[in-house]
Amino acid sequence: MFHTADTQDIIDGKITDVYFERTLKILKARKINPVVKAEFIAKNLPENWPWAIFAGLEEAVYLMKHLRIKVRSMKEGAVFYPYEPVMEIEGRYQDFCVYETALLGLICQASGIVTKSARIKKLAGERPVMSFGARRMHPVLAPMIERNAFIGGCEGVSVVKSGEIIGEDPMGTMPHALVICMGSTIDAIKAYDEVLEPRLRRVALIDTFLDEKFECLNVAAAMGKRLFAVRFDTPASRRGNFYRILEECRWELDLRGYRDIKFYVSGGIREEEIPLLNPVVDGYGIGTSISNAPVIDYAMDIMEVEGKPVAKRSKWSGSKRVLRCGKCGAGKIVPLNTERYLCSCGGRFGDILTPSLDNGKQLMKAEPPSKLRLSVMNNVKELSLA
Ligand SMILES: [Zn+2]
Repeated sequence: MFHTADTQDIIDGKITDVYFERTLKILKARKINPVVKAEFIAKNLPENWPWAIFAGLEEAVYLMKHLRIKVRSMKEGAVFYPYEPVMEIEGRYQDFCVYETALLGLICQASGIVTKSARIKKLAGERPVMSFGARRMHPVLAPMIERNAFIGGCEGVSVVKSGEIIGEDPMGTMPHALVICMGSTIDAIKAYDEVLEPRLRRVALIDTFLDEKFECLNVAAAMGKRLFAVRFDTPASRRGNFYRILEECRWELDLRGYRDIKFYVSGGIREEEIPLLNPVVDGYGIGTSISNAPVIDYAMDIMEVEGKPVAKRSKWSGSKRVLRCGKCGAGKIVPLNTERYLCSCGGRFGDILTPSLDNGKQLMKAEPPSKLRLSVMNNVKELSLA
């Protein structure tokens, strides 16, 4: 069996730290069940990210729909900054006490993946980025990971089931295993070309047996115009500098008239390598960097009890509005009852925390992944990465 929880375990509140279960027992014994407001907030972002993207809402709402609570939240795909609450729950504490663990898990991981994917896509620019990291995490999580990689900006996902979930054809080239089973790179790409549907682009993996340069030239000569791209899967090549290998291969192909053959790279590529590789790369397959992206460390904190502001030390009490200026993008956190607030640039502030759920009734429309992806890319367009 797989050592994973199923959907019902999560809905039943079994994915909870036991101290919440014990808290519930004590509160029930003492008949204490206040109406509280609790907010989800990250005081720091990983890797010194200046901003991050809120994600995981659709799944969080799926879980919270079963609870007697009201929820205000940012939209899935919204940009947020440290200290801005991304979501607020209001209800009787006993009704949602045991769900804190699962709710955090849903948004912490999804937000980290979407943010990392958005950063990588920004760096790659027009070059397509494919999510190749399903194999780095538990398979149960693959569709969730790849959906978020896609929402962040990846053009495609590699896993078949993930493609079904987001409504896109999965993307891929060929594995080393095919080359090894076929006996040579040329035999592999020829078989690929003869067997697979014509709509699939012909991409040869060229680092299995021989030097990349000679394999490039071999497959180019064998396939001619039918070859769309070659894929290099060896950033940490035995020969050292990956950029130099790509540059050399480009030179040799161009010299022989193969200017149209594109270069795809994969194999442990990190965010910071992308700007260096961009001049010689036409597309990226990104695995671990996105699939194992750092999580956003949101905390859930009670900040109001029976209408009165109260919070633990180091947290701001009271329910809040998060405002974003429509003109300059500046943010402002103000108490919920603040009436009007103008930005110093003269622009108008809009609320980015809005009602998303009211006792099982969904108030915020769930957007399809392709639409979320476009809005994320648009939201981060003007933002700097550092
Ligand atoms: Zn402004």
